[in-house]
Amino acid sequence: MEKKTGVYICEGCGLGSALDLEALGAVATDEYSVPVCKQHPFLCSKEGTDMVKQDMEAEGVNAAVIAACSPRVMTDVFDFGADKIVERVNLREQVVWSHPANDEDTQMMAEDQLRMTLVKVREMEPPVPFEGENYSKRILVVGGGLAGMTAAKEAAGADYEVVLVEKSDQLGGYLKTLYKMPPSSPPYEELKSFDLDEMVEKVSSLPNVTVYTGAEIEKIAGSPCMFDVHIRQNGGQAQERVGAVVLATGSFPYDAAKLEKLGFGKSPDVVTAPQLEAMFKEGRVVKPSNEQPVGSVAFILCAGSRDPEHLRYCSAACCVESLKQAKYFKEANPETPVYVFYKDIRAHGNYELFYKQLQKDGVAFVRGNVTSVDDDGSGGLVVSAEDVLTGAPVSSENVDLVVLATGMVPSTAQGKPFQMQEPQEGQEVEDVPTDTIYVSNNLNLDYRQGPEMPALKYGFPDSHFICFPYESRRTGIYPAGTVRAPMDYSRCADDATGAALKAIQAVEMTSKGGAVHPRAGDLSYPEFFMQRCTQCKRCTVECPFGAINEDEKANPLPNPTRCRRCGVCMGACPERIISFKNYSVSMIGNMIKNINVPDEYDEKPRILILACENDAYPALDMAGIRRLEYNPWVRVVPVRCLGSMNLVWIADSLSSGIDGILLLGCKHGDDYQCHFIKGSELANIRLSKVMETLNRLALESDRVRLEQISITDYNRLPELLDSFSARLEELGPNPYKGF
Ligand code: SF4
Ligand code: SF4
Repeated sequence: MEKKTGVYICEGCGLGSALDLEALGAVATDEYSVPVCKQHPFLCSKEGTDMVKQDMEAEGVNAAVIAACSPRVMTDVFDFGADKIVERVNLREQVVWSHPANDEDTQMMAEDQLRMTLVKVREMEPPVPFEGENYSKRILVVGGGLAGMTAAKEAAGADYEVVLVEKSDQLGGYLKTLYKMPPSSPPYEELKSFDLDEMVEKVSSLPNVTVYTGAEIEKIAGSPCMFDVHIRQNGGQAQERVGAVVLATGSFPYDAAKLEKLGFGKSPDVVTAPQLEAMFKEGRVVKPSNEQPVGSVAFILCAGSRDPEHLRYCSAACCVESLKQAKYFKEANPETPVYVFYKDIRAHGNYELFYKQLQKDGVAFVRGNVTSVDDDGSGGLVVSAEDVLTGAPVSSENVDLVVLATGMVPSTAQGKPFQMQEPQEGQEVEDVPTDTIYVSNNLNLDYRQGPEMPALKYGFPDSHFICFPYESRRTGIYPAGTVRAPMDYSRCADDATGAALKAIQAVEMTSKGGAVHPRAGDLSYPEFFMQRCTQCKRCTVECPFGAINEDEKANPLPNPTRCRRCGVCMGACPERIISFKNYSVSMIGNMIKNINVPDEYDEKPRILILACENDAYPALDMAGIRRLEYNPWVRVVPVRCLGSMNLVWIADSLSSGIDGILLLGCKHGDDYQCHFIKGSELANIRLSKVMETLNRLALESDRVRLEQISITDYNRLPELLDSFSARLEELGPNPYKGF
């Protein structure tokens, strides 16, 4: 587009008294020939923004550089419409609030930040929203249990059409085997009956819900708003186009056959909680060994859960489920001896009142680690345990029935692991992270990256557990209920409601051409200059969200509505042919090259910070808000994700004479905080390669450092920057300086 740039400098919030704004304006007009450059006492006021709007209307300004506060604030105030380019220069939080006023170095920093923004704007274009074909806003729910039925009901209640697919012949899932529910209303002391038929009827009779029972998903191809779902039912086929998917395929009980120590398989009188539930449901509760009534019962909690040899995690619902089953016995006969062996009773919230009621009912709670369950020689069982606190032996003898509260294994952890990446000739696969995907036959995605959802280490579908708990690594597909995490009935229903809302958000945002999350509403998307593609597959392998398929010749086939706009593909591409209208390798490269680097190191060393927009950049803002002073040699370039870092930027920096490069990204690893899951980890892998090269060239690799920063780390930034600066001082000037 033909661009006319206007620079608008704010004098408010202390900027006018800390900086020489005339000199700053001269950088724009004299160095970059910007035709319009104005100051205003409060640019965010109505008069300030009216001044910009008037220039846009009368002068034809269509690219506004706002030199004021952080781009993280006043986003609505400085929004002049999708056809206008607006870039912000963060003079407030990251210059005058974090550096001394009227200081030469502070002024130089402000001028460099303006230079960088001006060259970026030169290359930027307003994003044109992606438009697909035959968009659908219908929502597919896979699984017809509590979570699935709830998601379908909620989405339908919000006026969205729903397609509900259930493998078995009837809706209901685990509820079909359930006798009663734990209490869900005050005084939380009595069990709750429920009417499954009524629930099923309510969902099935909704006019905007199409139910397929006895049906399986054969294939899901496409992307948000354009998913084509192939359904197999009773030997027939059906096809539906949907916009988003809720995965509600639930969980399975942990395999009790692996719990021999607890007597399962050794004695028929050791059963699992689901087996006991079935007995109550059928109205026939007897000792399996002799069909006699059960005179006493012992529950063993955490059977396989919170155990390094089995499931390391807490299965969340089994404590309350066991309390519920203990209540079954006490309701039938208050005199029945009932023992509960537990490590901790995790009866959260109002379930605490239910737990107290069972204590009053006379249930014996024994806090012990069960060491064995054996035949007591008289037709009963003896449960032996070690007291959790003292280690003293404790036991219950003459027990008729032992019930194991087996943990939950998500349905996504069924099946064989999928081999995501075939090693290619000459390809260094060890540096490409692979994902664990089990071929569980839930979704059968037609994705190059595998047919199901990538899983966390315990098999639950990956999601950003801190900031975006409903999201998965497949855009537009939202796991809900016990497939996502262990949970009880009430949380399962809440979870399904949340997932239905996320699915609605996905179809609404996608149909407008915007990103769903975390860059919600971003209209840009990666574009590929295919003529120069070498079919190296880096982009398809490294995209954390499976957004890029490929054809038989390994040409990337992007699916823009699956894309999260992280830029990881842009960082990965060795040919540098992937770019966004408003974010590209060349834009950042030119920003780096426009930093004014003094020839004399002793005078003014320079440090480039590539700061992830999600945590590191806000942490720098926070440091400014708290008026923490930090190193004046730094120049900050925000990046969408550290994973979008292209290694050419390191070369650009070093050849520009910059003395050190600091990459600030999110925590990676098991407890990752990266908003794009793998971005900071990928940056780290790429960096390790560049380090080797630097060392080979006798260019100290210590000049480049990656640090993991969360937003709450703002107070350690000044020291971190100073220590990096001190190390650079030891290394001396960048040998390329002055060339
Ligand atoms: S790497 Fe990121 S920007 Fe690139 S296609 Fe995947 S989601 Fe989109
Ligand atoms: S990374 Fe670049 S060169 Fe490699 S396949 Fe993707 S677009 Fe082509």
